[in-house]
Amino acid sequence: MRKIQMVDLKGQYEKIKSEVDANVMEVIETTAFINGPEVHAFQKELEDYLNVKHVIPCANGTDALQIAMMGLGLQPGDEVITADFTFAATVEVIALLQLTPVLVDVNPFDFNIDIDAVKRAITPKTKAIVPVHLFGLAANMDEIMKLAEEHELYVIEDNAQGIGANYMHSNGSKSKTGTIGHAGTTSFFPSKNLGCYGDGGAIFTNDDDLAHTIRGIVNHGMYERYHHDVVGVNSRLDSMQAAVLRIKLRNLNDYNTARRDAARKYTAAFAQEEKIITPLICDNCDCHVFHQYTLTVKGTDRDALVKHLNENEIPCGVYYPIPLHKQKAYQDERYNEADFPVTNRLVKECISLPMHTELDDDQIEFITKTIIEFVNR
Ligand SMILES: *Cc1c(COP(=O)(O)O)cnc(C)c1O
Repeated sequence: MRKIQMVDLKGQYEKIKSEVDANVMEVIETTAFINGPEVHAFQKELEDYLNVKHVIPCANGTDALQIAMMGLGLQPGDEVITADFTFAATVEVIALLQLTPVLVDVNPFDFNIDIDAVKRAITPKTKAIVPVHLFGLAANMDEIMKLAEEHELYVIEDNAQGIGANYMHSNGSKSKTGTIGHAGTTSFFPSKNLGCYGDGGAIFTNDDDLAHTIRGIVNHGMYERYHHDVVGVNSRLDSMQAAVLRIKLRNLNDYNTARRDAARKYTAAFAQEEKIITPLICDNCDCHVFHQYTLTVKGTDRDALVKHLNENEIPCGVYYPIPLHKQKAYQDERYNEADFPVTNRLVKECISLPMHTELDDDQIEFITKTIIEFVNR
C-alpha cells in the first residue's frame, strides 16, 4: 500500500505535470509575471465555470473576504454574523476592519451556520451574514438569502472549502456555491479543492458596480492610473499561479468526483458503526465537494483515536479543536456558553480523515478498518 497522506499534492501533480510545466514555463519565458494573460484567461474560465458575471482574482482567501467587506462599504461598528465553527480567517477580517464579529452556533447535521441562531443574533446594527460552506457542503442559502432580504443585510459566502459545489434551491434549480450571495470568496491555498502552488484567492459577484469597486480596491484603490479614489490594498493572483490554476480548473469536476467517491466508500464502510457518525451525503447530489471528510465519534476518546491513527501512519486532522468564541482574540461578553451547544460538542468529537483526489481502495480499507477496530475495543 502507498503511504497515506492527508492531502496528496504530489500524486495529483504527476498526472498533470507536462501541462502544468509547459504553462508555467511559458509565463517565465514571456516574463508576464504580474497581471499577465494567464490571469485574465483564468478569470474568464472561472467565470464560465461558476456561471457568475465577475471573478476578481486576489492574493489569498483571507484577502478575498476582507476586500469583499471593504467593497460592500461595511463600516466600523457594523455587526457581521458568522459561524463559530470555522477557520479563523473568516472572523479575523471582520475584526481587522473594526466591524463587530457576532459568532453563532452551527447545525449538528451539516456543521453549517444555524439559521435560527442567526435570527436570534440580528440587531439593528447587523449589516452582513457570512455563511461558510464548511468542509465543502453548501449552507442553506435559500433561508440565508430570505433572512438577509427581510433585514436588508449583505451576504458574503466564504466558499474557500466549497468550490465546485452545486447548491440546490428549493425550486429545484442549481447554483454554484459562492455565486448566490452579494459576494462570494474563495482560496486557492494548495490543499483546497482548487489549489494552486502557492497562495491565491478570488472574489465573485454578479453585481457590476460591486465588481468595479472591488477591482479598484485590489489595486491600491486606483480606477485610473495614479488616481487613488479609495483606500485600497495590493492583492494579486500572480501569473504563475494562474497558469497552474487553468490546468487544475479543467480537472475540478473530476477532482470533486474523486473526493465524493472516496467519501461514499468511507461512509459505506462505517454503515454499521453506531459510534461513528458520518457526514451528510445526498444521493445524486453534488452539493458536497468533500474538502474534508469529517466524522463525529460517540463514546470514544477522540484524542486517543487521533493518536492511534498516527501510530498506524494514518494522518488525520481535527478541524477545529477550539470554537472561535473561545479564542482569546475573539472573546466577547455577549457570548453565553449555552448558545453554543453544537460547536462545544463538535470540537471534542470531530475528526477529519485523509481526503484528496488520489486515495485508493486499499488505503480507504486500511483507514476504516483501523478506526472501526479502535472504536469497538
Ligand atoms: C482556507 C480558508 C480561508 C483562508 O484562505 P487563505 O487563502 O489561506 O487566506 C478562509 N476561510 C476558510 C473557511 C478557509 O478554509
